[in-house]
Amino acid sequence: MNKASRLFCPALITPKNAVVKQSEQLSRSQKLLTELGLVKSGSNGTYQIMPVAQRSVDKLIDLVQRNMQQAGGQKITLPILTPTGLWKKTGRLEGDISEFYMVRDRSGKQFLMSPTHEEAVTAMLATTSPISYRQLPLRLYQIGPKFRDELKTRFGLMRAKEFLMKDMYSFDVSEETARETYSTVSAAYDRLFKQLEVPFVKVNAATGIMGGSVSHEYHYVSPVGEDTLLQCSSCGYAGNSEVLEGQTVSPASCPSCKSLDLREVRGVEVAHTFLLGDKYSKPLGATFLNTSGKPQPLVMGCYGIGITRIIAASLEVLSTEQELHWPRLLAPYDVCLIGPKQGSKEQPAAELIENELLLNVGELCGHQELLHDDRKELTIGKRLLEAKRLGHPLTIVVGAKAVQQDSPKLEVHLSKGEKLELDLSEALKLVSEHSQYKNSLLNGSFHRDEEESRSQSVGHQL
Ligand SMILES: [Zn+2]
Repeated sequence: MNKASRLFCPALITPKNAVVKQSEQLSRSQKLLTELGLVKSGSNGTYQIMPVAQRSVDKLIDLVQRNMQQAGGQKITLPILTPTGLWKKTGRLEGDISEFYMVRDRSGKQFLMSPTHEEAVTAMLATTSPISYRQLPLRLYQIGPKFRDELKTRFGLMRAKEFLMKDMYSFDVSEETARETYSTVSAAYDRLFKQLEVPFVKVNAATGIMGGSVSHEYHYVSPVGEDTLLQCSSCGYAGNSEVLEGQTVSPASCPSCKSLDLREVRGVEVAHTFLLGDKYSKPLGATFLNTSGKPQPLVMGCYGIGITRIIAASLEVLSTEQELHWPRLLAPYDVCLIGPKQGSKEQPAAELIENELLLNVGELCGHQELLHDDRKELTIGKRLLEAKRLGHPLTIVVGAKAVQQDSPKLEVHLSKGEKLELDLSEALKLVSEHSQYKNSLLNGSFHRDEEESRSQSVGHQL
């Protein structure tokens, strides 16, 4: 079980009236994460993730992996360093390289600290002994740090120089089967974003520049977003405004329902899917043996999810200025339990109830999901305030009312400010319902009305 007294949570205490010099733009989520000691700023544009936030990151990694494995993904790890020679072969070094970190080893050989791994994974397959069409499709994914020397880092984990990503690369025998893979992985992405319960929009990002490529972006709508999206108020369809305005036929109407009621919103891109064709396999010589035993270029797709960006962006969307609100599956703990203050009149009797709750709540939600705020030297009020700011889904307080003669009550605080007075069995029922709800999210039986989920996924068929 987790004890608040042992938790490394280096909160930032700013003296009243202090003038804080701001070197970068702050967002709501970043401000709260920093003040509460969940994330610390490292050197400019890099971040240190502290234990409470790390729990959330780990939960998201688990959730992403579940979905990738359901989509037939196999996990690998590729080196962070990619020889620049590979990027020369695909022509990507000729573009704008100002955002790449380059390093040299002692012999002078140059490497990229990879911002993405298309070249590395394709070259890996090119050096693998002939792959038979029977082994395909192949869907390989990894989760690791990515690097980008941003000119302007902003909003903490939302746009940092080092960030955590899940990237999947798929290999198929033909354009047709590559599209089937694309549908399968896209379905896994849709499922993941529904499980996170943060409203998202999926936009068609195909520009035609890559010649027949298909691409979609997943966005969270937030004023701090860096992309401009046009969203249809009638059916929910959304598009990147560049893509929509570039269309020749009535650019001001919704491509899905023809409504003229389009509004501009800002989006944070949290995931991206792309059909690549042979753009990388051809120059790098990654082939498979077809049914007649002849080598043929692999047909590829790539699929990214910004892990740390999802955490920051979902907090940005859900939280208030004072309190963090987490997606239910990503809250660092499910339940926080606050017992009586040291030396209070109710302490001896209330502690008996507290101890009983520690056992029972732990059994219901899992002992790892329970945070016991055992700092008895602090008042209940002070601990409750902190619990609310951290945004635990359920906070149970064992105070004076818990030991009163007739109908003893526990105070239960829900993350959106609701306060309930419940007896012991009712409180335990609430904990158990919370765990059941989480399981229903994980197993795909959503408690959402159909209308809502329909409006989020209209018009995105290939
Ligand atoms: Zn529409």
